[in-house]
Amino acid sequence: MAETTYAREQLLERRQKLTSVLTHTRANPHLAALLDQVDAALERVEMGSFGICEYCHDSIESDRLACDPLIRFCIDHLSREERSALEQDLVLAATMQSGMLPPREQRFGDWEIAHHYQPMGPVSGDYCDVITCPAGELFLLVGDASGKGVAASLLMTQLHAMFRSLIHCDISLKELMERANRILCEGNSGRSFATLVVARVSPAGLLEVANAGHCTPLIAGKSATTRIETASLPLGMFTGVEYEVERHQLDAGDTLVLYTDGVTETHNGEDDDYGCQRVEEVLRRCFNHNPRSLVDACVADLAAFRGHSTAMDDVTLMAVRRC
Ligand SMILES: [Zn+2]
Repeated sequence: MAETTYAREQLLERRQKLTSVLTHTRANPHLAALLDQVDAALERVEMGSFGICEYCHDSIESDRLACDPLIRFCIDHLSREERSALEQDLVLAATMQSGMLPPREQRFGDWEIAHHYQPMGPVSGDYCDVITCPAGELFLLVGDASGKGVAASLLMTQLHAMFRSLIHCDISLKELMERANRILCEGNSGRSFATLVVARVSPAGLLEVANAGHCTPLIAGKSATTRIETASLPLGMFTGVEYEVERHQLDAGDTLVLYTDGVTETHNGEDDDYGCQRVEEVLRRCFNHNPRSLVDACVADLAAFRGHSTAMDDVTLMAVRRC
């Protein structure tokens, strides 16, 4: 019901813009046709058939409808032209998204960093970034936007831009999380949210971690693997959430590992989840590997566990080691 009200408002706003352009310009057949489409969509809202595929009568995907309230067919029943346009858009979106990723491996001061980023479809809702600061600090961010497909990838893009601006504001990690949460809450009226871990490391090895409802970060060390258990609510759910920051000292050889639930919730043929413990087992075996080799070992173990089962989610893994 709320979605239909939102669609009606969107359509009425577009209608008003179109009519005002049409009254101030010469006859434009393209705009006139668009106005007809808007009126037809408003009629569907009134008749209760808005958001229903005209071919199969199933619901049209809500993320597509939110982007374009004029669409009349579900993704399985697009015309050839619509399908081709959508495919071109997805290729462009995927190219833009891969351009936002950090290098697969990099070194910054005493830190070596590597990641693995595997979208399930053309675009991913996973968020993965490494941000370096002039003072020698390093921010590592891994998150997961709610939903799937294009809508999730748009939120991922928003996270990318927001954190790249906020991190340079010279505020504490706690304030960074709380500000990011407020921005997301104000911007999306509770429609979407993101789980996320932000880790900050100093040149002297001090690690600070804030976790907004995301998978437990792990530290792989010589003698043990440590779970960083503190967690709060995802970003974008409630405005006034406070975020705790946990601190650890990383020594030479210690590796921080961040990942998304595409790792832990991977299924095998028998309906078992991969789980956090299997990640920890790989870390115990490979704690002395460099980040690239550690991430690759995790990915290989995950692939062996999954076997021939289909991947159901985006997968992201990041490892950061103090040399
Ligand atoms: Zn359909």
